[in-house]
Amino acid sequence: AKEAGRGVTCFFEAEMEVRLRERGLLEHDLRGAMAKGEFEINFQPLHACGTRDVTAFETLLRWHHPVRGDVSPAEFIPVAEECGLIVPLGQWVLEQACAAAAAWPQPYTVAVNLSPVQFRRGGLPAQVAEVLARTGLAASRLELEVTEGLLIEDAEGALATMQALKALGVRLALDDFGTGYSSLSYLRRFPFDKLKIDKSFTQAIELDPGARAIVDAILAMGHSLNLRVTAEGVETEAQLAFLRTLDCDEAQGFLLGRPVPADQLHRRLDAEARL
Ligand code: C2E
Ligand code: CA
Ligand code: CA
Ligand code: CA
Repeated sequence: AKEAGRGVTCFFEAEMEVRLRERGLLEHDLRGAMAKGEFEINFQPLHACGTRDVTAFETLLRWHHPVRGDVSPAEFIPVAEECGLIVPLGQWVLEQACAAAAAWPQPYTVAVNLSPVQFRRGGLPAQVAEVLARTGLAASRLELEVTEGLLIEDAEGALATMQALKALGVRLALDDFGTGYSSLSYLRRFPFDKLKIDKSFTQAIELDPGARAIVDAILAMGHSLNLRVTAEGVETEAQLAFLRTLDCDEAQGFLLGRPVPADQLHRRLDAEARL
């Protein structure tokens, strides 16, 4: 049994080593990817639940790796966060997004995902102010999405930074709501304008009465706190219909629009403007 135990340990060590090497390779490629222009931003529309009018676009980062093909942000963002690359990369995303949005028709706002690492680095409000000034985007047309992980580790620091961002006039959204710890007290304590119901709840609406009850409760609570509520991951008409009956403000998902590259979106907006 002892021998077998040792075998198992060796197996895990070998697997660990492969994983570490794989991560090292990814990090190496990631470091070079910015200079090589391998990143691109996509935009996915948010729609008013009732009218289906587009209200905003969320910026989603894409990495086109020359050999691996497209690498999912779920895979490379954590690596970029660990090695600090998320700071220049996140800054690049913010600049691209604001520059693009400055040329959009007035009603559309732009949402940008922020890593807790960018938040904690310090100087974020000044950087945001600088990008807004340089791109000419009105602060009220920028919405920053954060996840609750940020609020847990350094609540005081997060609150101060959020207040400084709010003072600029930008809006704040709490992303992936309902996953993790989601303490309801966060919604009262931090100056959010919006919460986004995680797609795992949206997608369970049709099959799971429990998920329906949770979505219902999140909407009631969000609205009583004067927050706008967006449901993510809407893929079916039935999901959208249910959300509409609960007065959900916005919906986002493949049913209404997939993330598209900036040039594709801009051709569409140009065509609409000419109508
Ligand atoms: P997220 O912020 O929750 O973004 C929504 C994710 O859901 C996106 O995945 C989007 O493509 C996907 N999605 C949208 N509608 C649907 C739907 O109807 N069904 C399904 N199954 N999925 C849908 P994506 O683009 O792969 O991004 C994954 C995550 O990576 C994001 O989750 C966000 O946490 C992170 N991320 C993406 N871009 C950035 C960025 O610029 N900065 C930072 N810090 N994180 C980013
Ligand atoms: Ca998001
Ligand atoms: Ca989300
Ligand atoms: Ca997420």
